[in-house]
Amino acid sequence: MLQAVNLSKNFQKLQVFQNLSLDLQRGEVVALIGPSGSGKSTFLRCLNMMETPSSGQVLYQGASVIPSFRDRGDQIGIGTLRRNVGMVFQHFNLFPHMTVLQNVCEGPISVKRMPKAEAQALGMHFLGLVGLAEKHDSYPSKLSGGQKQRVAIARALAMQPGVLLLDEVTSALDPELVGEVLDVIRTLAREGITMAIVTHEMAFAADVSSRVLFLDKGRIAAEGSPDEIIFNPSDERLSNFVSRTR
Ligand code: ADP
Ligand code: MG
Repeated sequence: MLQAVNLSKNFQKLQVFQNLSLDLQRGEVVALIGPSGSGKSTFLRCLNMMETPSSGQVLYQGASVIPSFRDRGDQIGIGTLRRNVGMVFQHFNLFPHMTVLQNVCEGPISVKRMPKAEAQALGMHFLGLVGLAEKHDSYPSKLSGGQKQRVAIARALAMQPGVLLLDEVTSALDPELVGEVLDVIRTLAREGITMAIVTHEMAFAADVSSRVLFLDKGRIAAEGSPDEIIFNPSDERLSNFVSRTR
């Protein structure tokens, strides 16, 4: 579904990561773990071109992605990529002046030009999936952090993306609200949604993903099954990292 081939990114002199490759298959869930500052967020942002890679290629369903807004021949531009690769962030960025349902329907209506009634039906479906159908008329300020994040996930899903990128979506939440958001992501994994997930929740990463990548100093320092990476880490830095965060 989504590939990175020898992707590198620097900000002026700072080399954030070098030659990262990732092949995300349909229905697969990959977890990205690693110390703060190791380049996880920048990598995800390059995957949907919120940052332009310094070198290397991103491919969506085999088509190479170009850093221009429009598609060109077989190559797809940022507009097409963003409609197909959704992203959810640590901070939910809901529109405060819109109800929950309006937040969820905004993308389908304004980006996809979907008729309002159809978008609302779709929105209610995804609000149901995250367990918040009954909150559709509430404003974000009336919701808990966990509920806001579940709305943000429903909003991303309403665009019906081929791939969902999740960047530490539970890091800003009070501990007692983390579980409900992780449960929603587990549901998505069971539904076969293709995802790349950056998380510090090791037990969750092990449970939800089929493959774990350990990013350290801008390189993939280890890659394998949750069993190999989280439960039986061979590399010393990895072992220290997972034992600290597990
Ligand atoms: P992580 O998500 O693993 O904590 P990040 O991808 O956020 O790591 O950051 C990796 C490195 O890139 C850090 O040193 C960070 O300061 C730097 N960085 C991230 N974004 C920018 C930017 N827009 N300009 C300059 N440096 C940046
Ligand atoms: Mg980050």
